[in-house]
Amino acid sequence: MIKNSSGYSVEAEVPVISLVIPIYNEREVLPVCLPRLDKVMREVGFFFEAIFVDDGSKDDGYEYLVEQSRRYSWIRLVRLSRNFGKEAALTAGLDYAAGEAVVILDADLQDPPECIPKMVEAWRAGVDVVLMQRRTRCGESWVKRASSYLFYRLLNRLSDCEIPADVGDFRLMSRRCLQAVLELPERNRYMKGLFSWVGMPTEVIQYDRGARVAGKTKWNYAGLIGLAMEGITSFSIAPLRWAAVMGVFSAIFGGGFGLWIIFKAMVFGAQVAGYPSLIALITCLGGVQLITFGILGEYVGKTYLEAKRRPIYLVREVLSAVRGGEAASA
Ligand code: UDP
Ligand code: MG
Repeated sequence: MIKNSSGYSVEAEVPVISLVIPIYNEREVLPVCLPRLDKVMREVGFFFEAIFVDDGSKDDGYEYLVEQSRRYSWIRLVRLSRNFGKEAALTAGLDYAAGEAVVILDADLQDPPECIPKMVEAWRAGVDVVLMQRRTRCGESWVKRASSYLFYRLLNRLSDCEIPADVGDFRLMSRRCLQAVLELPERNRYMKGLFSWVGMPTEVIQYDRGARVAGKTKWNYAGLIGLAMEGITSFSIAPLRWAAVMGVFSAIFGGGFGLWIIFKAMVFGAQVAGYPSLIALITCLGGVQLITFGILGEYVGKTYLEAKRRPIYLVREVLSAVRGGEAASA
C-alpha cells in the first residue's frame, strides 16, 4: 500500500489499461455493461481499471456502481458535482486515468467492448492512437446519419487538422498522447478535435456500431447543433473570413445596384419608384450584418469563456481512483 496526495492508502498496483466511461442516467445499461467489460478484459489479460465518470446523473447509477465495486475490483468512480456534459466528463475521466493506455467508450455499449482486444493489440504493435471508425451505424435515424455526414465533411474543409469522418470518441490512446491532450488548456473541450490536433501515429480499425442496449440517447438536435458549432468555432476561424467575404460581395452588389440606378435615372429620367427594391436591399443587408455579428459574437463569447479560466469540471466524490495516476508516480 502507498499513500496518495490526500493521504489515503491506495493499491500500489498500477493498471496497464484504463477504460474511461462517462455516464449520465445510464442505470439501465450498467447491469449489462459490467459483466461484458469483465469478460472482455479477462480476455485481454492486462491489469486494468474502468473509470466511470458520473456526470451528475439523476438516477441511482452511482450507488449501483459503488455496490458493484465490491464484486468488480476494477471499478473506479469519479462523481461530478453536476451535469457538465460529456466532453467535461471525458476530461475528468482522462485526468484520473492511471494506465499506460486509455480506452474511451460509451456506457450504452454502442461502442462494443469486444473491440478492445484488437485495439490493445494495435497499441502493443507500436501505434499511439487506435481510432474506431463506424462502418455501419444501426439504431440511428437517417436524419442523424445524414447530418453527421455533412458535419464531418464541413468541419474537415474548415479546420487545419484532419478530424476523421465517422470516428466518435471510441478510441485508444497511449500515455504519451493522453499527456499531450491533458496539457491543452482550453475550457471549451471539443474532444474529437483536441484528440486529432495532437496527432501521433494512428491506426484506424473499422467496426459496426450497434444500437443502444437500453435507455435513450442523451442528445437532442439542439445539443448536437451546439456541439457542431463548438467543433467548428474551436478549430477554425474560417467563419470570420466568410463573414468578411459576404461583406465584400454585398458591398459590390450594393455599389453595382447604385450605379445601375444612376444609369437608369440618366437614360430614362429620374424615377422615385423603387420602394420594394429598397425594402429588399435593406432587409438583405440587415441579414448579412446580423449574421456577421452573430459569427463575431460566437468567437468573442468563446474568448470571454476562456478568459474566465474556470475549472472544466468539479468533483463531488471519488472512489478508489487517483488523479493523474498519482499511484503510478508514487
Ligand atoms: N453522457 C454524459 N453526459 C451528458 C450526456 C451524455 O456523460 O451530458 C454520456 C452518456 O452517458 C453515454 C455517452 O455520453 O455514455 C454517449 O451518450 P449517448 O449514448 O446519449 O449519445 P449517442 O451515442 O446517442 O451519441
Ligand atoms: Mg450512445
